Amino acid sequence: RAKARGRATYQFFEPALAETAYADLVLEAELAQGLTRNEFELFFQPQVEAATGQLSGAEALLRWRHPQRGLLSPDSFIFVAERHRLMLALGEWVLREAATTARRWREQGLTRGLGAMRIAVNLSRMQFNLDGFGDIVRRVLAEAGAPGQWLELELTERMLIEDVEHAPTTLAALRAQGLTVSVDDFGTGYTSLAHLTELPLDKLKIDQSFVARLPDDVGAQAITRAIVQMAVGLGLTVTAEGVRTAAQWQLLASWGCQQFQGELVGAPMSAADFEAWVKAR
Ligand code: C2E
Ligand code: MG
Ligand code: MG
Ligand code: MG
Repeated sequence: RAKARGRATYQFFEPALAETAYADLVLEAELAQGLTRNEFELFFQPQVEAATGQLSGAEALLRWRHPQRGLLSPDSFIFVAERHRLMLALGEWVLREAATTARRWREQGLTRGLGAMRIAVNLSRMQFNLDGFGDIVRRVLAEAGAPGQWLELELTERMLIEDVEHAPTTLAALRAQGLTVSVDDFGTGYTSLAHLTELPLDKLKIDQSFVARLPDDVGAQAITRAIVQMAVGLGLTVTAEGVRTAAQWQLLASWGCQQFQGELVGAPMSAADFEAWVKAR
C-alpha cells in the first residue's frame, strides 16, 4: 500500500515499519526465552473491604525481570505476546503461579482469619476465547492443589461483548468451579449494565480513570455514582480501583462501593513484600 502512494512515501515509511516489525520479533523471542528462564514474576496489590478494612484479596500483576532492561510492566510487552499467541503460555503461567501462591499462603497461615481471601488474575482475550478454557483452569487448579474458591478472574467488557456466543457458557463453567468472575476497568467500554445482567458475573471493578477524577469532578461523580448504585442493586460486588485519597474512599463508600484497591491501601508489591505487609497489619 505504501508503494501505491508513490516513491517518496515508500522510501520514507518502509524502514520505520521494518524496524518496528524487527523490534517485535526480538521481543517475541525474548518473551519465549523469558518463560523458559523463569524471568516472570507476579506482584500483588491488596484489596480491602470498605466496611471492615479487612483484606479481601490481592490482584496479581505480571512483571518481567528483563535481563537488560530491568523490571518491566505488562503494558510494554503484553501486546506482543497477544499478537504471537505466546499469551496462551504466559497466561497459563500466571494462572499456575497465582494458584500455587494461594496455596503457599494458606500453608504459611498468612491468610488465617481471611477465609475468603482470593487472588485475582487478569485474563487476556486470547485465553478466554479458547475452546475449553474452563477445562484448562480446572487442570491448572488441580495440579496446584488449589480449589476455585481461592481465585478470581478479571475480564474486560470487550471480551464479554466480543464473544456473546460462548461467554455465558464459559463464565458458568468457571463459576461452577467456585471461581469469582469480575469485569475489569468497567466504564471504559461500551457495555451497558443492562447487557451485563444477562451474564453470570460476580463483581464490577470501576476503572481508575473515573476514580482519579473524584471527589471534585461533577461529571465523574454522576457517572460513578450511577454505576455503583445500579451494580449494587443488581447484586454485584463493586470494587473501586486506583483509590488514592481518603476523600475518594469516603465518597465511593457512601454510594455503596464495597471494596477498595489503590495506592491508599497499598501499591503492587513483590510476593515477599506483600507477605511482610500482611503480617505487619
Ligand atoms: P489492570 O488490571 O486495570 O490493573 C491495575 C493497574 O493499575 C496496575 O498496573 C496497577 O499497578 C495500577 N494501579 C493500581 N492502583 C493504582 C493507583 O492508585 N495509582 C496508579 N497510578 N496506578 C494504580 P499494571 O500492573 O502496570 O498493569 C497494567 C495492566 O496490565 C493491568 O491493568 C492489566 O490489564 C494488565 N495485566 C497485568 N497483569 C496481567 C496478566 O497477568 N495477564 C494479563 N492478560 N494482563 C495483565
Ligand atoms: Mg485487573
Ligand atoms: Mg483495572
Ligand atoms: Mg487497566
